[in-house]
Amino acid sequence: MPFRLPASRINWTNSSFLIGTLVLTCTAVPAYLWVCGVDLFQVAMFLAFFSATGLSITLGYHRLFSHMAFKASWPVRLVTLVFGAAAFENSAMHWVSDHRRHHKHVDGEMDPYDISQGFWYAHMGWILFKLDAEPPLDNIADLRKDRLFMLQDRFYVPVAVGVGFVLPALLGYWHAGWTGALGGLLLAGVARVTAVQHMTFFINSLCHTIGSQPYSDKCSARDSWIMAIFTFGEGYHNYHHEFQHDYRNAVKWWQWDPTKWTIWTLAKLGLVRDLRSVPEEKILLTQLTDTRRRLGERLACSKVGANARLHELLQASDAKLHELGERWAALKAEYAGRAGALKAQYAEKAGAMKTEYAERKAEYTGRAIAQFDEAKAALAEMRRELQQALRVLELAAA
Ligand SMILES: [Zn+2]
Ligand SMILES: [Zn+2]
Repeated sequence: MPFRLPASRINWTNSSFLIGTLVLTCTAVPAYLWVCGVDLFQVAMFLAFFSATGLSITLGYHRLFSHMAFKASWPVRLVTLVFGAAAFENSAMHWVSDHRRHHKHVDGEMDPYDISQGFWYAHMGWILFKLDAEPPLDNIADLRKDRLFMLQDRFYVPVAVGVGFVLPALLGYWHAGWTGALGGLLLAGVARVTAVQHMTFFINSLCHTIGSQPYSDKCSARDSWIMAIFTFGEGYHNYHHEFQHDYRNAVKWWQWDPTKWTIWTLAKLGLVRDLRSVPEEKILLTQLTDTRRRLGERLACSKVGANARLHELLQASDAKLHELGERWAALKAEYAGRAGALKAQYAEKAGAMKTEYAERKAEYTGRAIAQFDEAKAALAEMRRELQQALRVLELAAA
């Protein structure tokens, strides 16, 4: 039976735009470069527009508006909303609503880019076809009081066209007349839109398909350093799904996350504040719990499952993990209690207690840091132990 496209379900506006820009990028852009050659100004403009619109999506649409991972001053909100529109990924209002539903219903029927419906559906198929019923915008109440956010939704199309296509064409015209204008429109306009869009689409498709799951396998999200390179750091998607309110997607210093670095720099400049991040010990414990679970699964189904030494090792690690978690909770409670008592005392005798409070605070902080380092070393040792056990198991199971 011949394959028939469900014509009534095709979203013609989205489809024509997506396919049109892709076709032009593969035909008109190389033809222009062939005829007019590579101009450094055009290359620089492509990179500038790619970074501005790409970062506006990852930093603005995603980490700021969707996850409230930090608070931003109006200039940051304005710039990310203007250049975010120029990425042609819909208004921030619709983007955020879709994305919040993606996190809430990930891999399920209500997930707008549900990977279980196939790679291409998650990548761009979901945009090409109309949904049976448009989901209501009922999950963005917190953003409705942001005037800039609301205005962007109202004027989305003129802003997107003006900044995404007209502006690069005007800059190109200023640089080299009509040929320059065409170059600006094709390179920093059309080709750049295609590149940024597919960068975002890959987060929904490839980041739910390839890579590792060091934090959790509750959903399909994966960590991939290759994807991080092309997505301003969004490739650490397994971490992101586990800790979605963290302003970072990459937590190790060597991992590539320019969005995180930009947020950090903006904070130093006083343009953003209240950066949210998950404490290191919580991340480590999550990672360890997951490693232990995987080890347990392997032991259960492996032919070396009966190996008493491995079971012993697993049980010991399990007990240690449990003990460590409890110790952490106790330490935190103790510290909070003492700090609270000191604070109350300080409030009572503000003047006289000032020096004593400062001294005691330093003492307690020092103690807490030492305890933290000790716990961290214990965790690192345990992780080594688990990794060793995993390697032994892998060898035994081979
Ligand atoms: Zn995801
Ligand atoms: Zn997210």
